[in-house]
Amino acid sequence: MQARYSKAHWRPLRFAGSMPARQQKHAVILHTNGGGAAVFDYFSRPDNKDDIASHFQVFNDGRIEQYIGCDKVAYAAYASNGWAIQVETEDDGHPERPWTKAQLAAIIGICKWAGCPAKPLAESPSDGVGWHAQYHSWNLHSHSCPGAVRIAQIEHVIIPALKPQPKPTKVVKVVPGRWAKFKAGHKKLWSWLKGKR
Ligand SMILES: [Zn+2]
Repeated sequence: MQARYSKAHWRPLRFAGSMPARQQKHAVILHTNGGGAAVFDYFSRPDNKDDIASHFQVFNDGRIEQYIGCDKVAYAAYASNGWAIQVETEDDGHPERPWTKAQLAAIIGICKWAGCPAKPLAESPSDGVGWHAQYHSWNLHSHSCPGAVRIAQIEHVIIPALKPQPKPTKVVKVVPGRWAKFKAGHKKLWSWLKGKR
């Protein structure tokens, strides 16, 4: 797996290079946050001594910024930090609003790129899609992040979108066989004969 997602704008944080290596599970954990562009500044503030951050921020319009390479950890959700890719999402202070269509498409794109299977994460290192409030060990401050509306979108839109799509079935052109032609001809003859009687 590549460290950087080609569809994201790469904006490395000052501590991006010094984070420990991530155990590379096919795992995405989703968050919500108030700010749009303010997230980079928030993670960059000098008093962020614990290097709190996420790998990605997904804006309302579907744009994506990446702050840390996915080969390294981002400190966003306690026990999951060592192995999951952390994805922030803009909500402008309204996590009760659903993610926009563009955000959903961007989130699904990240999950596909990360190779997440169509299932929720387990609490221990695993593959799938999760959310911050899913387990207490990831969420020691008991945030509701990303909120009931967005959690429902994970379960009903994002995870189902990761299911392998069935291959399109081949269109088979039906050519009437000899027997069908014979029957059709026979029918015509029969009705002609019936008319004669
Ligand atoms: Zn969160």
